[in-house]
Amino acid sequence: MRPLIVANWKMNNGIKESLSYMEVFKPIVKDCNADIAICPPFSGISELKKSMKGTNIKIGAQNMHHEDNGAFTGEVSPQFLKELGCEYVIIGHSERRKHFNETDEFINKKLISALNYRLIPILCVGEDMAQRKKHETKRFIKKQLVAGLGKIGGADVRNIVIAYEPIWAIGTGNNATPDQAEDVHLHIRDLLSKIYGKSSTANVRILYGGSMKPENSKELMVMPNINGGLVGGASLDPKKFAEICMNV
Ligand code: PEP
Repeated sequence: MRPLIVANWKMNNGIKESLSYMEVFKPIVKDCNADIAICPPFSGISELKKSMKGTNIKIGAQNMHHEDNGAFTGEVSPQFLKELGCEYVIIGHSERRKHFNETDEFINKKLISALNYRLIPILCVGEDMAQRKKHETKRFIKKQLVAGLGKIGGADVRNIVIAYEPIWAIGTGNNATPDQAEDVHLHIRDLLSKIYGKSSTANVRILYGGSMKPENSKELMVMPNINGGLVGGASLDPKKFAEICMNV
C-alpha cells in the first residue's frame, strides 16, 4: 500500500511563512515514494495550493462544517474546501473534540458530508492516558470508530483514511512504540474488516499520529498496519517533515 504522510500545521504558519516553507520542502520531496498532503490553516489554503502546482504535494483542511452553507458564523463548508482544491480534510482531531466539544455524532455528519463532496476524510481516533492505563484503549477506539463511521457504506469506506492518534502522544515528544501502535492499528483493521468485509477495507490507510519525527518514523512505518503518518509538531520544520516523507 502506498503510504500517506500528512502535515497538520494546526494554527501555525501564515501565508508568508507557508510560501517560504514550500521553497525548502518541494525540491527535497520531488521523488518521494509516499503520497504527501499538507493541511495548513484555512487562511493559507489558496496560496499554498498555488505554490503546489506541478508537484506531487496535495492540499487538505484541518476541519469543516457538515452543512453546505447557512447561518453558521465562522464555519467553513466542504463546498468551499472543494472550491479551493482541497483533496483531504482532517475530521475529529482530538483537539477539536476537546476544545470545541465535537461529538462522535457530529463527526459522523462531517464524514458523510466530506464523502459527498469527494473530499478524503482523515478520521482521527485515540485514547487518553487514563484509558490506556485502565486497558480501555481498544474498547474506546471501537466506540469512536463505529460511531464516527456511522451509516457509511462499504463503497464509501474505501475512500476514507483513519488516523490513530493516542492523545498522550500528541505534542508530548512521547510517541507510541511501534508495537503499541501496531497493536491498535491491527485492531482498527480487524474492526473495519468485520463491519465492511475484507475486500472493502484491505486498502484503507491507517496513519499513526503522535510525536512522529525523523528519528522514529521509519521504525513506526515498517509495521504492517501503519500506512503513513499524521504529523503535527515535526511538520512545521520543512526539512524534518521532508525527511519523514523520504523515510518511507
Ligand atoms: C497531531 O496533532 O495530529 C499530531 C500528531 O501532533 P504531534 O505530531 O505534534 O504529536
